[in-house]
Amino acid sequence: MKHHYIDTHTHLLPPDFKNDLDEVLARAKDAGVKYCIVPGTDLESSKEAVSLAEKHECIYACVGVHPHEAAKAGDSDLAEIEKIAEHNKVAAIGEIGLDYYYNFSPKEKQKEFFAAQIDIAARRRLPIVVHTRESMGDTIEIVKNTFKNLREPEINDRRGVFHCFPGTADEAKILKHLGFYVSYTGIVTFKKTESTEVIKQIGLQGILLETDSPYMTPVPNRGKRNEPANIVYIGKKIAEVLKTEEDEVARITSENAMHLFNLK
Ligand SMILES: [Zn+2]
Ligand SMILES: [Zn+2]
Repeated sequence: MKHHYIDTHTHLLPPDFKNDLDEVLARAKDAGVKYCIVPGTDLESSKEAVSLAEKHECIYACVGVHPHEAAKAGDSDLAEIEKIAEHNKVAAIGEIGLDYYYNFSPKEKQKEFFAAQIDIAARRRLPIVVHTRESMGDTIEIVKNTFKNLREPEINDRRGVFHCFPGTADEAKILKHLGFYVSYTGIVTFKKTESTEVIKQIGLQGILLETDSPYMTPVPNRGKRNEPANIVYIGKKIAEVLKTEEDEVARITSENAMHLFNLK
């Protein structure tokens, strides 16, 4: 392998990675993973992600309030998120969005926090990392409305990514047009998945790769805690689907990630 991977969404925080993060990162490096991007889900975990990024050169952080946590959060959390977003190892605002599958927070509060955090991203000139589940219509609508006239044309193609993308090829095309990537996890290795069809239609230029560790463990490691080194199974599977080389998958999806998150 000439090229490296970037794990664009990986929850390397305690409690899951409390005891062996150094070993996990060493295995990631051996597998060719150059950078890991660790999202926050509330103010506390956002701060933890930033301090992890300060300690490890290979880690970048995202800061944000997840729709699950919106119910417990207030305006002061958003103000703090905006402040820590200035840190030079914060690559994006995230993860933010809507989750109508669990509905842990009232829908209106989810929408309000999602829109408010898109505004923060625009002010900080950062992309957004979007979580959406059973909520694609509203999510696309809010993204469209909130981004309208917010940004200069030259960074329109760095708007963000829909992580662990659950949508159709048509939805992925709408998002591509709006300046978004869609990102794929170990789900592509599962037997029952429509994601490979979407990937065929969107192509490598439109996608990012992520493990979503510790969740979404790919075949053949199902049942175990997921970790960034497993990204190779996702890359191999996508290479098979697109009838190309794994190296090509790693190269193009890493270029996409470097561009979106403005990594050097
Ligand atoms: Zn998510
Ligand atoms: Zn996540």
